[in-house]
Amino acid sequence: MINDQNLKNKIALVTGASRGIGKSISLALAGAGATVVLSARSVDKLKEVEAEIEKDGGKAEVLPVDLSKTDDIISLFKDIKDKFKRLDILINNAAIGIFGDMADLAIEDLDRTFDVNVKSIFTTSKQALGLMIPKKSGYIINISSVQGVKAYKQQSIYAASKHAVMGMSKALAAEVQEHNIRISVILPGGVDTDLISDARPDLDRSILIRPEDIASTVLYLLSLSDRAMVDQVVVRRFTSTPFNV
Ligand code: NAP
Repeated sequence: MINDQNLKNKIALVTGASRGIGKSISLALAGAGATVVLSARSVDKLKEVEAEIEKDGGKAEVLPVDLSKTDDIISLFKDIKDKFKRLDILINNAAIGIFGDMADLAIEDLDRTFDVNVKSIFTTSKQALGLMIPKKSGYIINISSVQGVKAYKQQSIYAASKHAVMGMSKALAAEVQEHNIRISVILPGGVDTDLISDARPDLDRSILIRPEDIASTVLYLLSLSDRAMVDQVVVRRFTSTPFNV
């Protein structure tokens, strides 16, 4: 269906494209020929990513969004529809983490996290399906976490949000298969980005997964033929325990 040899005519939206894993995924998709819609709140950083893509001969478009606001997401998709008339690939990558003992966390922390990590995926996916179902084609990749299937202490809210992403992805995959739409989930362990410094200050950064490794995983999923499907990929730190998820 979608093949990385063939990303040239594809339109891809990456949320959280301003830094970290989302930036790497955006560079990789553009490098494979896709036109990448770069979305997040920090316009200056998005423009830097756009410039990097264009310098290498790729195509990108900056369309900012605050994913905690449903109206913002709807207006992002209106822009995508007006400009491109289609969306082939959606990478739900953006997320936040608020960490600490549950006894010290507030209900507002849970609301803020679920707004960005879960509710936004509900809305972006619904909007994307509006463009994908009529074309009987599309691929949505959700960036969950190993915290989507297990849970470390001080990560109750984050782990709950990533478990929610898993549940939503599984149900949606079953619903849209008849429309020839694919849903995959990537579950990374510790990746060397800003987020991990908050989540796991105990980890030595030199043993963390590189954001580029997650970008390669996205390209791998997109490279499979229409006869094959990988529902989920766990990418762990090489120094962590094998088969522990
Ligand atoms: P990061 O470096 O903190 O980047 C997060 C991205 O999300 C930024 O581009 C940020 O952009 C965007 N974002 C945050 N709040 C937003 C909002 N309200 N509206 C729009 N965009 C928003 O994090 P990362 O490590 O690259 O994480 C990317 C994904 O990988 C997340 O889903 C994360 O849970 C997952 N993950 C990360 C790790 C890890 O160890 N790093 C491990 C497992 C899974 P702006 O601030 O410009 O809006």
